[in-house]
Amino acid sequence: MNDASSEGKDGLIMSGQQAAKEQAKENMKRGRYDELKGILEERRREIMSEVQGRMRDVRAEGAGSAVQGVLDAAESSELDIQDEIEFALIQMKAETLNKIDEALRRLEEATYGYCFECGEEISERRLRALPFAVRCKDCEEAREVKQQRDRLMAQRRGAASLFIDMQG
Ligand SMILES: [Zn+2]
Repeated sequence: MNDASSEGKDGLIMSGQQAAKEQAKENMKRGRYDELKGILEERRREIMSEVQGRMRDVRAEGAGSAVQGVLDAAESSELDIQDEIEFALIQMKAETLNKIDEALRRLEEATYGYCFECGEEISERRLRALPFAVRCKDCEEAREVKQQRDRLMAQRRGAASLFIDMQG
């Protein structure tokens, strides 16, 4: 009894954020940690170079059209739309980068790569295809089935309440 409580005290002193992190990393299999980190960092590099490429393209196009100088209204509005699409794409990539950074943070805390529903490890194959998956394949499929059922139920309820509203 005394032994147990003194152990508890030591545990409390040790439990800084750093200690918790170290413990979390130990708990996760080393190979898997490296693998997941590799997946995320590879994705990060890909997106970074894509964004940089796009930004270069936008700048190059901008310079080109300035030299051309004479664009009729239709052409220039088309360019604006293209710029807007480019901008939207870059913004989307930036959001993905944020998600990757967050996933890397979660990986450090050893909360990345586990199913949100059942707590099992999400397979590396699945994470490679879907780096932001929060559920394992089984739970995701079960969830989709449930969602479909819920939608159907909601539709039926909606139809029923509409009928009641019309009567009232
Ligand atoms: Zn699961």
